[in-house]
Amino acid sequence: MAGFTIKGITDDTDTCECCGTRIKRAVALMPLDIDGNEDGDVVYYGSTCAGRALGRKTAWVTGQARAAQAKWEADAERAREWLAAYEPVEFAGVREQFRVFVRERNNTVRAGDTVTASVARLLAHARAILAAGI
Ligand SMILES: [Zn+2]
Repeated sequence: MAGFTIKGITDDTDTCECCGTRIKRAVALMPLDIDGNEDGDVVYYGSTCAGRALGRKTAWVTGQARAAQAKWEADAERAREWLAAYEPVEFAGVREQFRVFVRERNNTVRAGDTVTASVARLLAHARAILAAGI
């Protein structure tokens, strides 16, 4: 099922990449491959062209795009917060990492896991969220 998934909505662009029309807001669409996996770079379409590409009504597309945007912004906010908390101790000793991860932020280190690995995983996750963008 090649197609698109809706990533968000933005006013950072004023041209529909589908038809070249000037637009106020663009829907960010991620192409999907035949298996439904995200494949390639995000394209920015006006809501009419996005609706046509998705086989949906414009209002539905706009609603989905706003919801996706809000979710992404919440995820990005959380990711930035993790970076602010854990980057300062990324290369610190275990004791410092434990102080931040467990004492200050009330996380639990899972059985068989280490605080260093937990911090590294959180930072990698946060960076991946922000790198993905919309
Ligand atoms: Zn268009």
